[in-house]
Amino acid sequence: MTDVPTPTAERDAPRREPQSYAPGACVAVRLPLPLTDAYDYRVPDGLTLATGDFVRVPLGPRKTVGVVWGPGTGDVPDNRMKAVIQRLDAPPMTAEAMAFADWVADYTLHPPGAVLRMALSVPEALDPPKVQTAYRAAEPRPGTDKPGIRMTPARERVLAAADGPPRQAAELARAAGVTPGVVAGLAKAGALVACDLPAFPPPPPPDLSRPGPDLSPEQATAADALSAAVSDGFSVQVLEGVPGSGKTEVYLQAVAETVKAGRQVLVLLPEIALSAQWLERFQARFGTEPALWHSEVTQAQRRETWRHVAEGRADVVVGARSALFLPFRDLGLIVVDEEHDGSFKQEEGVVYNARDMAVVRARLGRIPVVLVSATPSLETQANVDRGRYAHLHLPARHGGADLPEVLLVDMTRNPPQRGQWLSPPLREAVTRTLERGEQALLFLNRRGYAPLTLCRTCGHRLQCPQCTAWLVEHRLLQRLQCHHCGHQMAPPHTCPACGAEDSLVPCGPGVERLAEEIQALYPDARVALATSDNLYNQRTAREFVRRIERHEVDLIIGTQIVAKGYHFPLLTLVGVIDADLGLSGGDLRAAERTYQLLYQVAGRAGRAEHPGRVLVQTYMPEHPVMAAIQAGNREEFIRAEAKSREEAHMPPYGRLVGVVVSGTDEAAVDAGARALGRTAPRGPDVQVLGPAPAPLAMIRGRHRRRLLLKAGRATAVQPLVRAWIKRAQIPRKVRVLIDVDPYSFM
Ligand code: ADP
Ligand code: ZN
Repeated sequence: MTDVPTPTAERDAPRREPQSYAPGACVAVRLPLPLTDAYDYRVPDGLTLATGDFVRVPLGPRKTVGVVWGPGTGDVPDNRMKAVIQRLDAPPMTAEAMAFADWVADYTLHPPGAVLRMALSVPEALDPPKVQTAYRAAEPRPGTDKPGIRMTPARERVLAAADGPPRQAAELARAAGVTPGVVAGLAKAGALVACDLPAFPPPPPPDLSRPGPDLSPEQATAADALSAAVSDGFSVQVLEGVPGSGKTEVYLQAVAETVKAGRQVLVLLPEIALSAQWLERFQARFGTEPALWHSEVTQAQRRETWRHVAEGRADVVVGARSALFLPFRDLGLIVVDEEHDGSFKQEEGVVYNARDMAVVRARLGRIPVVLVSATPSLETQANVDRGRYAHLHLPARHGGADLPEVLLVDMTRNPPQRGQWLSPPLREAVTRTLERGEQALLFLNRRGYAPLTLCRTCGHRLQCPQCTAWLVEHRLLQRLQCHHCGHQMAPPHTCPACGAEDSLVPCGPGVERLAEEIQALYPDARVALATSDNLYNQRTAREFVRRIERHEVDLIIGTQIVAKGYHFPLLTLVGVIDADLGLSGGDLRAAERTYQLLYQVAGRAGRAEHPGRVLVQTYMPEHPVMAAIQAGNREEFIRAEAKSREEAHMPPYGRLVGVVVSGTDEAAVDAGARALGRTAPRGPDVQVLGPAPAPLAMIRGRHRRRLLLKAGRATAVQPLVRAWIKRAQIPRKVRVLIDVDPYSFM
């Protein structure tokens, strides 16, 4: 985003009083389907509905759930209008949540129904809860003398275990160390009383009586500012500080403050599924886990969490971007940790940036939002400069540990041996580190063994049949994989083009190939790979962290998955194998992203008493990103980067909207793209580039063309784009994806 115009107008303010609708009235019901309009339904006899109510309605031959969005249009004749079937037993959607859904649809130019579908991601949550039977001891407790019930030591233990909140039979049996039969026998005899239990209880509330750590003066100042903001309506606070400066400790104070005020908190974290250390921190601070919301959470658990959030029984939710659409009863604070992270941008379905929409959500709810980062995005920085966001700064690492020393290794002067990737200086540094019994991290942002396989005889490159992409060799799995569509195959023995035998060779390094080199150089070193192939959920992430912490590993070879969040006390050396990797391609944010990534990786080196070192291998030591990383001069880099963006009228000093036309029929795609090109809006402050084949010209067999609308910062792009898409004659089988404030230009 450049600067999402935060909602201020009257019409954006959440409606305060929900209207009610008597039998016979006509209501507009929004359905969680990719539809622009709500549908009219009649309120049946015996039912009174209110705005926000969840209802079941007929839709053609089916039934579906929906939300009463307001009065109906009245355009449907009475005799054709269908009636609402029932109101569902769930807390109604709040005016804030409804206004938010409207706002997101309006801003992203995606159908309101598609946005509602994100808010209704677990429709089962609207069904009556599945009850489970639990047991508690009958009153009065039968003694040994109670007629009809023969007591045994096992039965005694069960009754003792049942002397508290009701528990399920299996749980009671486990607690008492008996077979389930013992519990069943007691229930039959009437010594245990059955009652209903919801499937998952909400997490216990955070224990606010636990003291947090003693904050340093700078930390205390920041924490006080956040705490003050908690009761003071809408605000955006940017919490900036080097890794390890205590940002998390500081915002946990504001979390405690909000819960104390009886309101809910949402913490958005990228890669939450892997954030084992974050959850342990939370647990240590508050004695309980927060409610979790991400792709790894089971459907049954999602259903419960959705309910708990809606009923106001989950105090703190930590989640991925989609958690923003949970039905909070009374949201009081949003924290966006690692706010600069590109994974807050959702690229499929409704295309939106959760960081930006969090600000919108906060504004609509009149609550504070905290944007946390060691390297705030240029967008956020610009909003600080414009005075729209408050800025809190933690200048130093907690405990005074220094930031690691960063050295550039000029690869043109220090080339590695042929077919290897470690330069002599980096090898030397790894050797020293291992000799001292410390740990090293080698960072290479490439999964697999080699990014490209080439025929030495004819030059043929192995490509995905469905995508404009090379197949990546994964030697451990003995597969060639497409990282875009998941297509895979066994590595062929002969070249598919010329038939030559044994002539296919890997080109370039991936982490597996690097591991091979390392293992040959240091046969005794214990090496661990860390990529999304082996760290894919909380269990694997936790196990990985344990192994490093117990010093069962000497060398970590990892992709960006290890770049953030982890603190390993013995890790003193970080080697960046190919720092230039992210700079090619001419992406608007390539330099900024590369800086952020390198900075974050560097932050893994050195903690507490062990000073760290970072060696960055680059063929472009004079590149501004490399110079800034070495000098530790973020300020200057950001200024230079901002200046060049401003001169080019690029975000955050101008607006962009990406339009991707795609389909399986290439001629139709081209026709659609040309139609959009012909009807493109033009003006003194508006320009449309393209159509042109997308860099990824084909994905999953769909051909892709791109257009890019570029406009001045003051331009309201949404009405322009809406009218544009409407006037272009686009073939039916072609899909048009609109991406407001694009992050991906592929
Ligand atoms: P950041 O979020 O900026 O990376 P953290 O909040 O994770 O920093 O703090 C880094 C480490 O320092 C953590 O282990 C944290 O518990 C510790 N720490 C930070 N501030 C304090 C403090 N005031 N007292 C004790 N430990 C602290
Ligand atoms: Zn593919």
